[in-house]
Amino acid sequence: MRLAKWVATFVASLCLFLAPVGAQQTLAVGSVSAAPGTKATGFLEVPAGSDAATRLPVVVIRGEKSGPVLTLASGSHGTEYASILAVEQLIEKLDPKQISGTVILLPLINTASFEQKVPHINPVDGKSMNRFYPGKLDGTQTERASAVITHEVVDRTDYLIDFHGGDLDESLRPYAYWSPIGNAKQDAMSRGMVEAFGLDTIILVKERPKDPNAARYLDNNASLRGKPSIAVEAGYAGTSDPADIALLVDGTLNVMRYLKMLPGNATSIEHPAWVEKIDEVSSSETGIFYPLVERGNYVAAGAKLGYVTDYFGKVILEPHAAAAGVVLYICALPSMKKGYTVAFIGQIAAQAP
Ligand SMILES: [Zn+2]
Repeated sequence: MRLAKWVATFVASLCLFLAPVGAQQTLAVGSVSAAPGTKATGFLEVPAGSDAATRLPVVVIRGEKSGPVLTLASGSHGTEYASILAVEQLIEKLDPKQISGTVILLPLINTASFEQKVPHINPVDGKSMNRFYPGKLDGTQTERASAVITHEVVDRTDYLIDFHGGDLDESLRPYAYWSPIGNAKQDAMSRGMVEAFGLDTIILVKERPKDPNAARYLDNNASLRGKPSIAVEAGYAGTSDPADIALLVDGTLNVMRYLKMLPGNATSIEHPAWVEKIDEVSSSETGIFYPLVERGNYVAAGAKLGYVTDYFGKVILEPHAAAAGVVLYICALPSMKKGYTVAFIGQIAAQAP
């Protein structure tokens, strides 16, 4: 479809979306239309622009009973495999007969990253697919895909969970993000979601863009549009450990109980470690990295995190932790380039926020 025609169709379809979705009404996202009590699959089409077209797989699971719309999105970093496989499991596991409301699943936003095994970015345009929200229809592929997700999914959802995990070069321990926006009611709801998700380490995000037109991150994009949202991470370094996948699947089911979309009582994590500040340790040298700590270790201020040698084996750098905290992730690979991340050390708050 030509771009102008596609934009016209897109705007027309937005007008249809303004109507509230009743329990008996069919809900359509992209090419996917699901009647109550059904599960449907299809694609969000991203037309060609300055670079190639693409399509994002989408699943709509419409409960038999009415209720809110929850979006589960993963794979904006296409080599964070545990998070992608968790959402794949949820496609199978979620039963429309049990659900009140609708679940929209985007299991793999960055298909080119996944298929080509390229970490961090969309290899088509070299951009991270979690930094360009709300996106723009006349931008490069990442920006166009982000715009389609904003209008087709974010604008239509009530809640959102964005799934991540340690990427190919990140040895990461599981954690979640809570990003309050200053609206007490919405913040209470998103806090309830993150505590119901159940990961025992929660990063309190204080510095995020406040302008919905420059939201950058998917969860922030949804939060700034009035939808309580969280981000969660489990998995590391190309692995798809069943225990990591189970954390993400079970956390999602418990959030759905919290939102009254599934029957049963939700549990809530008691006394999580709240991370109030992240110490980003980067390398001032290029060479070979040898870690001395592991993901999840607690380290003291000044602790040596590893060392970097030149290509002849001579130690040229010993990165240290600036403050005490938990190793949220540490570089998982020997490849080290000047300016790249050695570790994220999370400083634990003395008390819950
Ligand atoms: Zn990620």
